[in-house]
Amino acid sequence: MSTATVAPTQYYLELEEKYGAHNYHPLPVVLTKGEGVFLWDVEGKRYYDFLSGYSAVNQGHCHPQIIEALIQQAQRLTLTSRAFYNDQLGEYEKYITTFFGYDKVLPMNTGVEAVETAIKLCRRWGYTKKGIKNDQAKIIVCNDNFHGRTSTVISFSTDPASFQNFGPFMPGFVQIPYNDLDALKKALEDENVAGFLVEPIQGEAGVVVPDEGYLSTAKEWCTAAGVLFIADEIQTGLCRTGKMLACDYEGVRPDILLLGKALSGGLLPVSAVLADDEVMLTIRPGEHGSTYGGNPLACHVAIAALKVLKEENMAQKAAVSGNYFREQIRQLHSPYIKLIRGKGLLNAIVMDHPDKDAAWKLCLHLKESGLLAKPTHGDKIRFAPPLMITKEQIDECIAIINSSLQIL
Ligand code: PLP
Repeated sequence: MSTATVAPTQYYLELEEKYGAHNYHPLPVVLTKGEGVFLWDVEGKRYYDFLSGYSAVNQGHCHPQIIEALIQQAQRLTLTSRAFYNDQLGEYEKYITTFFGYDKVLPMNTGVEAVETAIKLCRRWGYTKKGIKNDQAKIIVCNDNFHGRTSTVISFSTDPASFQNFGPFMPGFVQIPYNDLDALKKALEDENVAGFLVEPIQGEAGVVVPDEGYLSTAKEWCTAAGVLFIADEIQTGLCRTGKMLACDYEGVRPDILLLGKALSGGLLPVSAVLADDEVMLTIRPGEHGSTYGGNPLACHVAIAALKVLKEENMAQKAAVSGNYFREQIRQLHSPYIKLIRGKGLLNAIVMDHPDKDAAWKLCLHLKESGLLAKPTHGDKIRFAPPLMITKEQIDECIAIINSSLQIL
């Protein structure tokens, strides 16, 4: 069958099954169009998107202002490589560093590349500024972290699905429990520690929100120990949790800030590492880079994506809608929902059901009723719609969730 004619769902499922690597387990829905909070499948059915591309689409699908920026720039210049200057990169660098209040930015593409860059910067700073002996630098990380899929980053994952049979692993990481200040204090006693890499809320682990004061105390102790506080805000940042950054809730300014996902509003992979000169200038020409990092198309799109977040008050919207959503879920008093947790519009329910596949089955029911969500780690479902979802739309989604819970 030709893809020019609208083909049924099954056709596309079989194509991917036959020709694609089996490294994902998607819900059986084939999407062809998106607008705002909505997605449409190839059969013309409309859905609420409650995943938002794992928080890459905070601004909503195909936001007209961001699409316009993409088209304009795509017709002028898309890639030069960093062998030459281009007229977009400097403007973007000025815009994003002013936006977040850092001396410098290092542009990359995917989220995990930003994490890799932070690891290199942190180690380099450890050797050249802190005086750690060569190859002895350590970075503290948290159990149940998710920072991406490269072989270095999975080296400090505690999830067997991420690391099993992918060894040997990169040394130099110290794992401590999340939200455990005592463990952090102890780990910071080691003078070879150069950094603490942390998610302000653990998204993939099932939206685990640490205690109030965890981040600010951790930052304070890192500073006292001469250790860089590295915040991975790739999922939590850019208004998702009800502030521009999740760290803003505790007035924490990370030494290294990592952004990705919604930095392009879901149009193309754009990530960023922000830091001050003392850290950033430890990497010199030729020592790190990426062919696509800082390309003119990405730069132009990222400025538009950041403008939309600010101009449309998306942080405030996420904060208000998130409170309302969690309250409405609580009001359902479902025996199958053990817990609803989250901040802003980064939320998850933890299920309590004798069937261990209940979360997957609930997602299938939700899909049938026009809402797309995905389980994470078996018994949890993340609810993270685009940030401009309205109260009326949330009410409709709560009704869908309620009726799907009834038939579970
Ligand atoms: N860091 C966090 C906190 C993430 O949630 C993710 C992706 O989900 C990543 C890093 C990796 O981003 P990417 O998939 O773009 O490499």
